[in-house]
Amino acid sequence: MSLPPDRPCVRCGRPQTPAFRPFCSAGCKDRDLLDWLDERHVVPGEVVLDNDGGDA
Ligand SMILES: [Zn+2]
Repeated sequence: MSLPPDRPCVRCGRPQTPAFRPFCSAGCKDRDLLDWLDERHVVPGEVVLDNDGGDA
């Protein structure tokens, strides 16, 4: 049995991109994270974003 190489994105159903599995793109990945954060408002006012500071 051989599975198809491109499984559907868990968000939009488009073929996944290996770099963004299980999503098809960075957009879907970000949106999923935002949705997850939005649903989990366990600590309002305390958003911990780990900035790498690689901008310097
Ligand atoms: Zn997608």
